[in-house]
Amino acid sequence: MPLARSMTGLYKMRFITALPMKRTTILLLSAFAATLAADGGAEPADLVLTGGTILTMDDDRPEAEALAARGGRVTAIGGAREIRKHIGPGTRVIDLDGLTAVPGFIEGHGHFTGIGNAKLQLNLLNRRSWEEIVALVAKAVEGAEPGELIRGRGWHQDDWDEPPEFVVGGLPVHHGLSAVSPDNPVVLTHASGHMTFANQRAMEMSGITAETPDPRGGEIVRGPDGNPTGAFRQRAGGLLGPVTRLWRPDIGEMAKLASREALAKGVTTFQDAGSSIAAIGVLREMDNRGELPVRLWVMARDSNARLAESLGGLVRENRDGSFLTVGGIKKAMDGAMGTHGAWLLEPYADRPGHTGFNTTPVEDIEEAARLAVRHHLQLGVHAIGDRANRETLDLYERIWAETGIDGRERRWRIEHAQTIHPDDVPRFARLGVIASMQGVHATSDGPWVPNRLGAERARERAYVWRALLDSGAIIVNGTDAPVEDLDPVASFHASVTRDMGAGRLFSPEQRMTREEALRSYTRDAARAIFREEELGTLAPGKFADITVLSHNLLTVPDEVISEINVVYTIVNGKVRHEAERGR
Ligand SMILES: [Zn+2]
Repeated sequence: MPLARSMTGLYKMRFITALPMKRTTILLLSAFAATLAADGGAEPADLVLTGGTILTMDDDRPEAEALAARGGRVTAIGGAREIRKHIGPGTRVIDLDGLTAVPGFIEGHGHFTGIGNAKLQLNLLNRRSWEEIVALVAKAVEGAEPGELIRGRGWHQDDWDEPPEFVVGGLPVHHGLSAVSPDNPVVLTHASGHMTFANQRAMEMSGITAETPDPRGGEIVRGPDGNPTGAFRQRAGGLLGPVTRLWRPDIGEMAKLASREALAKGVTTFQDAGSSIAAIGVLREMDNRGELPVRLWVMARDSNARLAESLGGLVRENRDGSFLTVGGIKKAMDGAMGTHGAWLLEPYADRPGHTGFNTTPVEDIEEAARLAVRHHLQLGVHAIGDRANRETLDLYERIWAETGIDGRERRWRIEHAQTIHPDDVPRFARLGVIASMQGVHATSDGPWVPNRLGAERARERAYVWRALLDSGAIIVNGTDAPVEDLDPVASFHASVTRDMGAGRLFSPEQRMTREEALRSYTRDAARAIFREEELGTLAPGKFADITVLSHNLLTVPDEVISEINVVYTIVNGKVRHEAERGR
């Protein structure tokens, strides 16, 4: 009893005499840890990184030289001499030898199984002409079974040096493609994922003719004779369902391909922007068997009816220590800018009278929002046009007014947030809405965005990172893979330079600083999924998710950023990817 009393007195005295409190606590804790280590009381680390630069993103200790991890968590961080004490006979010690470690990159918006799916299709990214794409399909037809579906993805009409021979509305016409593949249906997805191109056989099999009406939220592109040209904007792509449903790659196989890709790119946590209830079921089984090597945070994307019947169960299955979390619902307010599908406040500069599409009725999204409230989930609404962004912010505001909830506590998101009217910019911070933006989209879209919007509107509203950050909003970065390569370094480079190549800059005044860009891939990305207590910084107690890079991305010159390689990817204290170290 007297002992207990004197202990209490001792602690009280320490806290009172040595303010500020936070630093005192840390001093006491580190003194305690050092005592344990010196006594041999602390168990040795599983993994020690030493001799490098560790950018922790933790304000208490932004930079360190060495780090120790045990049981999947960081146990100590500091100078090489300090950390040496944690090395035991079983510890794996990695000499960083000048490399730079950062908190594991968090992809803020990608399509996990979509990455695997894209790897199983013809890769049409960055082709120089439509004719080159037709030739690729011709070659695939040679190796295909009769009648087998041929799929490709990644074409973009703005990539081509010259327009195709026959063009309607800037898009190719199917005849050349139909000629090389008369018997095999061909379906080629646009780079944005928001337009589909089909050959004659695919249209026949889907029963599409000149008489087929445009569905709501989509358009069948037609020639002067009224016949479909082969291009299907937005929701019209769904008319090809009878053919596209023949494509059923194994979800587990796609997830394995995606995992490998994520680890190679230094991504340790992946925010999946929409998986069906069925796909989530397969991912959950993989996680239960310990087959997911990266942490997955998933937004469920399905009909409201299916969401309503499944969400309760999915949320209950979220467990601590698992690598799969169902954390949100995904819906799409509009389409993409490249396909004139983004929903704008005023008409497109290069398509007068057209303001894009609202692809999911607002009332459907509102119903999903109520489901999100009920199940304590986040909501991520895809919004690219300024009208789509405004409608989404209005909807969020209505829900908070109706439920009396402080929206800032729910951290709902807008996915892409690409075009924002200046009046709407401050609403993100005010409503606590997280802007989930993809740095690399700005530089790959930059060359043609001014055509769509006109120079003035593009400058004022497109990819306004600086305006959002200055207004107090949080940005989570990403790539929208497989729309873009799942490469955090490329998106980081775009975020800090807005360099479209050949020295051409896209609204450079909207650039992020190096620090902000790294935060958007680590600390703020963790915050965007309520995981900031465990992920996004390197400090004792945090998960040992670490990406080791060839260079210090905060200090290398701009022109060296794109040369940065991922050397190690460490998830939960385990090295899951290791590149050759040719130094
Ligand atoms: Zn997406």
